[in-house]
Order: sequence, then structure tokens, then C-alpha cells
Amino acid sequence: MQIVNTYTLNPGQCHLCAGNRTPVIDTLRDIDRHGWEGRLYICFECAGGMAQLIGWAPPDKHEDMVELAASLKKKNTALEKKVASLKKFEEAVKELA
Ligand SMILES: [Zn+2]
Repeated sequence: MQIVNTYTLNPGQCHLCAGNRTPVIDTLRDIDRHGWEGRLYICFECAGGMAQLIGWAPPDKHEDMVELAASLKKKNTALEKKVASLKKFEEAVKELA
């Protein structure tokens, strides 16, 4: 597969939505069946829809999730330190009892 800026081969449209937005994915596969003859192109919009169906995130959303994960990791580290200090306090209180 490759990304191309024009539909150079017939039928010159996305196989899924019949649109002709570019750039487009050229699957490098030719089809001649079920009333379709020519190159199998898939537009970015249709490819994006399929990607979301299988759980892939768009680049901007992925970036947001990476930032959120880093933030949560920092908070978790801080909470782990707090829990460790509370355990020391708890042990000290037990010794007094
Ligand atoms: Zn399409």
C-alpha cells in the first residue's frame, strides 16, 4: 500500500464511500468482480473510521492520552510516597499503643 495524491487508475474513487478526496491510500490491488473494475483505493476518512473501529486513536487524541498517562504516572508516584510515609506513621502509632 502507498499514499498517493491522485487517483491515477479507474474507477478513480474510494472503494468504500465512492468519494474522491485526496491524498488517498492506493492498496495496489486491482479488482474485477461484483461490478467493480479497477484499483482499490481507500480514502483517509474511511481508513480513519476503520482504525477507530479497532480501537486506534487519531494522532491528536493519542498525543493527549500520552500526556495524560505521564501526568497520572507522576500523581501515582506522589501517592505511593504518601502511602509509604503514612505506613511509617501507622507503625509509630502502633508502637505507642
Ligand atoms: Zn472513503
